[in-house]
Amino acid sequence: MVTVTKDGVTRNIPMTTSQKILHHIKANLIIILMVIALAIGVIAGLTVRTADGWEYWQKRKIFYLRFPGDLLMNMLKMLILPLIISSIISSLASLNAKASGKMGLRAVVYYLTTTFAAVIMGIILVLAIEPGKKGGEITRSGSSKEQEPLEALFDLIRNCFPDNLVESAFRRQTTVTGTFKYQLPITLDDENKTEVMGNYTSESPNVEKSEGMNILGIVVFSVFLGAVIASMGHAGKPLLDFFEALHVATMKLTMLVIWYSPIGIIFLVSTKLIEMENPGTIFIQLGYYMLTVLAGLAAHGLIVLPVVYLIATRKNPLIFMYNMLKALLTAWGTASSSATLPVTMECLEHRNNIDIRVAKFVAPIGATINMDGTALYEAVAAIFIAQVNGVGLSIGEVITVSLTATAAAIGAAGIPSAGLVTMTIVLTAVGLPTEDVSLILAIDWFLDRFRTAINVLGDSFGAGIVDHLSKADLSEIDHLNELEMAEETTKAEEAGITNTAFVNGGMKETENGEIGSRL
Ligand code: ASP
Repeated sequence: MVTVTKDGVTRNIPMTTSQKILHHIKANLIIILMVIALAIGVIAGLTVRTADGWEYWQKRKIFYLRFPGDLLMNMLKMLILPLIISSIISSLASLNAKASGKMGLRAVVYYLTTTFAAVIMGIILVLAIEPGKKGGEITRSGSSKEQEPLEALFDLIRNCFPDNLVESAFRRQTTVTGTFKYQLPITLDDENKTEVMGNYTSESPNVEKSEGMNILGIVVFSVFLGAVIASMGHAGKPLLDFFEALHVATMKLTMLVIWYSPIGIIFLVSTKLIEMENPGTIFIQLGYYMLTVLAGLAAHGLIVLPVVYLIATRKNPLIFMYNMLKALLTAWGTASSSATLPVTMECLEHRNNIDIRVAKFVAPIGATINMDGTALYEAVAAIFIAQVNGVGLSIGEVITVSLTATAAAIGAAGIPSAGLVTMTIVLTAVGLPTEDVSLILAIDWFLDRFRTAINVLGDSFGAGIVDHLSKADLSEIDHLNELEMAEETTKAEEAGITNTAFVNGGMKETENGEIGSRL
């Protein structure tokens, strides 16, 4: 419908078919551009690979070609810090303790149940398909560091409380196990009491700082600061205003980056395809492994999550998913749920009309701890490695895999291939060789893109569900705010000040029309 106003008369004129098509294209232009970019990236990448002498493409050429893609990654990552801080703080500061507590509980219950469901789905599929028992030999290369599950858990909790907030923007704490040598006397001959000094080595774990943003620490700090600001009432209002404005400004920057993203996606995808290992060397086992992970991710993303959403909200999950397409494509292109966060928030707020307070609270936390795709992949990969090694896992060990895979997914950062690193926790827990991570290294970049998209989809459905369940609490807060506002207006009017004081960005207008300073 087109609304035309002429001489004060409003008429609704139906759109013609071409107008309708144009309207749809306009509304979905960025999605269309992203899909085209993805296709161009794949075609260009494969064309270069199949061209004569592509093997001679030096690393330098690939490095130059990736430049526009690197820029996109940088722009998205640059927004993570202001976005997480401003979103979580302004959301919590605008809610009361009861509402934010309920919202947080709902989100955590959703995160844990869906992550665990993903793990179970992965385990069922890998036990049924048994990719590790199919023919073919895969070569092992490289090695990886072992991490004790308990130490990994300590790291997770330790990182929730960074000792330096500024440093947590670029470094986190990690337990690193070194060895130290010591000597002890050994008695060689009991009768003559001959003693020599024996050399021993022992392990010594230590906390060290490693490169990478400690998002978890920033999230925890923001949650507490937001809650404290909420409890401060009027005294906290300037801070709330500040973080709200910062959020709006960051989202405006996000829009600019989104318009650049199709260009970045072309180069990110094509260079990845150019530099990937020759698919001919991917053996049958790995092929089945890939199929198992992809089938699991598809089942979780296309069946489990939409059904959970449908049951919880009675709304159409397909429309919800379609509205998230921009974020899902960005997740696929960047393989990073943290880098996708700005786009995820944009889709939630503007396309799915999720209450801004919910989107600001649930999406950043989800991007940090809720990783269904990663959890599913870690469980499949661990059992696959056991199968390749001919190790049968007992029921107890399968349960250990499911629990540690859930924990490892929570601990994984939202950056490319983070799941591969935290997988050592799962492998160590069931006594499998951690260097066998190298078995699946060659195709990890590919699976990473799919699992990141499922991670983002899980976060988004979570926001949709929490939004639906929190409607009553949020409208209660709105109602209370309205009452408070009305009360303040009455008081102000009684004091001889007009209503403009509260609407006019804190400027007050006195009865005789002068604009004064803030109340
Ligand atoms: N790349 C994933 C993400 O950012 C994490 C992973 O490696 O599984 O969500």
